[in-house]
Amino acid sequence: EGVEAGNFVEDIVLTDLKTKKYQGRVRTRFPPEPNGFLHIGHVKSICLNFGIAEKFGGSCNLRFDDTNPESEKQVYIDNIKEDVRWLGFEWDGSERYASDYFQQLYRWGEAFIDRGLAYVDELSAEDISEYRGSVTRPGKNSPFRDRPAEESLELFRQMRAGGMAQGSAVLRAKIDMSHPNVIMRDPIMYRILPDTPHPRTGNEWPIYPSYDWAHGLSDAIEGVTHSVCTLEFNMHNELYNWFNEKVLSLDDDSLPLCRPPDALPRQHEFARLEMTNIVVSKRKLKRLVEGEYVDGWDDPRMPTISGMRRRGYPPAALRKLCELIGVTKVPTSVIELSLLENCVRDALQETVAAKALCVLRPLPVTITNWSGEDELLEVPGDEARQMHFGKEILLDAEDFQEDPEPNFKRLAPGRKVKLRYSYVITCDEVIRGSDGDIKELRCSYDPESLGKRPPKKVAVIHWAHATQSAPVTVRMYDNLFSDARPEEAGDFLDALSGDSCKELTSARCEPSISAMWKKHQEESEDPIFRVQFERCGFFALDRKATEATSRMVFNCTVTPRSDFA
Ligand code: ATP
Ligand code: MG
Ligand code: MG
Repeated sequence: EGVEAGNFVEDIVLTDLKTKKYQGRVRTRFPPEPNGFLHIGHVKSICLNFGIAEKFGGSCNLRFDDTNPESEKQVYIDNIKEDVRWLGFEWDGSERYASDYFQQLYRWGEAFIDRGLAYVDELSAEDISEYRGSVTRPGKNSPFRDRPAEESLELFRQMRAGGMAQGSAVLRAKIDMSHPNVIMRDPIMYRILPDTPHPRTGNEWPIYPSYDWAHGLSDAIEGVTHSVCTLEFNMHNELYNWFNEKVLSLDDDSLPLCRPPDALPRQHEFARLEMTNIVVSKRKLKRLVEGEYVDGWDDPRMPTISGMRRRGYPPAALRKLCELIGVTKVPTSVIELSLLENCVRDALQETVAAKALCVLRPLPVTITNWSGEDELLEVPGDEARQMHFGKEILLDAEDFQEDPEPNFKRLAPGRKVKLRYSYVITCDEVIRGSDGDIKELRCSYDPESLGKRPPKKVAVIHWAHATQSAPVTVRMYDNLFSDARPEEAGDFLDALSGDSCKELTSARCEPSISAMWKKHQEESEDPIFRVQFERCGFFALDRKATEATSRMVFNCTVTPRSDFA
């Protein structure tokens, strides 16, 4: 009551609730195949499935679609669970596995043979595909199609017992080889895969169910009401229903939740998420990992959930993105990566309180008219932050131009800038090394300028003390792919940009950063320590790298909206 549908799937859910199609129940599922890490595309599916359950008082299952042991691993299962939880969702009960139903599915396979709904085919894979025909060419029957049910049953049992070689036979549904929908032309239900251990069932099963056979039935067994998937499965919808209806007609009480007046689950297809400058396919992401183009699945440049987490993206930003892009029934345009970055920036702006000054690319400055001891400066409103000021300080090299461009407003010879929380300085002299590079600036400070607003047109910049500052490593990231559509130019690996991670190893941060991190470890639940380096952007401490190098390593999460105003 009072709940409105936010997209076409929710429209359907709402209608089904009103008509009591599922007796008021709503159950969705998120069904990843554990063959890699989840990516930003999966986030859309997770938000949709868990979102519907939350909104309509239903529940959502996490079900691993583990029917291809060749590429599935326990480590992927573990990471997927962590990722879903990190996004802020909890599945109903324990996680489920398609493999939990292998025995049940097998029994239904036998029953199908018995009812003349399936047969063992011994055509080769090539012949099966040739016989299937195409959209424009009807298929033709396999010579094994009309073999007696007893013979098929005998062979199917041999397949199950491990007595048949890989590729020597398959179990197929007997539907119609001239069906206008090619998917319906006697689809494969089982294939033989004897020598590949499964992450959960080990060597128990030498045969594995196909996606089509396993998926809809797993939904039905779990009492799923709305099974949402991406548009590529459009043509499979008819088969999804066919398998479920035929199993229901077996009148075997293993489908208790679907007895009338309850109804079978239905599949609804939505447009997949695609984004510029990245690839969203586990298979392709795996190539990046295996080819060592990136530092693992959780490399901060990866569009994986674990990569985005390590980069410092907050889960709220990912959920917000999904809310903004919505869910549609027709293919949508490719989403600009900048939309995601805006969501990240907005979320961090609201939540990250820790601030520090950090000079990323230090340029030494001597304050020529400073004499005597360093002075300890306070940051107004934040007594935890104190900074030493003295004769030797550092500026960011990007805040100085010797021949300033027309719209450059920061330091240049003869010009003034205000150092944040400190003094106004004037650049009097540029010192070059023997190689001709700028080595140092000689500046003078205005003792009267402390704690005052800077004069008009004087920019405020960040700085650090040359020695009373913390050496840190900062990683700045660029898009992994310089090309907006890396997959369109042929091999996507050719579109990798050469220099998407810059490690700045001489960065210096205000010394209070160590205390901030300590405080975070003691007081915060969030495993990720985030800080805003004023004027540089938001950064997240990389624990892996920090532990390995024993100095703080920060990943740049996102830079300010307009770079260095
Ligand atoms: P990939 O090709 O990356 O492996 P997949 O669809 O094969 O993707 P699954 O693990 O089977 O990966 O996906 C689990 C769920 O996530 C499915 O329901 C799938 O439709 C959905 N999903 C996958 N990629 C996207 C995407 N780009 N946008 C929206 N949903 C997606
Ligand atoms: Mg899949
Ligand atoms: Mg896949």
